Parts: sequence; structure tokens; C-alpha cells
Amino acid sequence: VKPADCPLDKDDLGRSTWGFLHSMASYYPDKPTRRQAEDMSKFFNIFSQFYPCEPCALDFQEDIKKHPPKTDSRDHLAQWLCERHNTVNRKLGKPLFDCSKIHERWRDGWKDGSCD
Ligand code: FAD
Repeated sequence: VKPADCPLDKDDLGRSTWGFLHSMASYYPDKPTRRQAEDMSKFFNIFSQFYPCEPCALDFQEDIKKHPPKTDSRDHLAQWLCERHNTVNRKLGKPLFDCSKIHERWRDGWKDGSCD
């Protein structure tokens, strides 16, 4: 087992980053201002340039060019990001996530109370 204070490898970085991104989307305003919507779109464009895994960043840039961030509401942003994560899951041969459960996973906790 590696000590906890080593640089993040690709998978640790990915897990931590998805946690941050999905949490951010789940707490994004329901009704963002125009400025917030523009800033969130910029955030993802800038993020995709500097994500510190080059092949990941290049594919993510292509993906968000085809599917630009949907920043007009919390639900649209969360669903859009879930789909982007599923695109990476598909590429890596991982199971796809059921995007109807996005807020249970990242904001509210599971309906069975297991996260309470
Ligand atoms: P992760 O995929 O990290 O997921 C963490 C948790 O998120 C899961 O346990 C699950 O509960 C939840 N989850 C899973 N799917 C979804 C979804 N669709 N929506 C919401 N929640 C979900 N790795 C590569 O090898 N090649 C790449 O090209 C690559 N590109 C990446 C691009 C980005 C922008 C990011 C952030 C990461 C990328 N990664 C890439 C890393 C990769 O996606 C995983 O993070 C890594 O393989 C670890 O996977 P994991 O199985 O632990 O779960």
C-alpha cells in the first residue's frame, strides 16, 4: 500500500475529480443567472485544457465540443455531466451509471437511508 502523501495517479485523480465535479453540479443553482451560466461553461472549457492527464484532457475537450455544457439549470448540468462521465466509462469498459440517480449519489444520499 502506498503512503497517503504520494502524487495522485490517473485513477485517484479521476475519482477525486469526478467527486468534485458531480458535487459542484448537484449544488449548482436551480435557476442560475446568465452570468453564472456563462461562468460555468467557461469553467468546463478551462478545466478541459488543464486537467493533468493529457489523453484524458484531449478526449474530454473533443467530447465537450460535441456536447457543450448545459448550464441553464442544476438538473440539466448534473445530467449533462453524468452523460460525459458515462462517455468515459464506455471508453474504459466500465458499467454505465443510471443518471436518474445522480442527486441520490452526489447530494441527497440513497433512498434506503444507507448514507444518513
Ligand atoms: P470513477 O469513474 O472515478 O467514478 C467514481 C464514482 O462516480 C463511482 O464509484 C460511481 O459511484 C460514480 N459514477 C460512475 N459513473 C458516473 C456517472 N456517469 N455519473 C455520476 N456518477 C458516476 N481514465 C482513463 O484511463 N482514460 C481517460 O481518458 C480518462 N478520462 C477522464 C476524463 C475526466 C474528465 C476525468 C475526471 C477522469 C478521466 N479518467 C480517465 C479517469 C476515470 O474516469 C476514472 O476516474 C478512473 O478510471 C477511476 O475509476 P473508478 O472505477 O474508481 O470510478
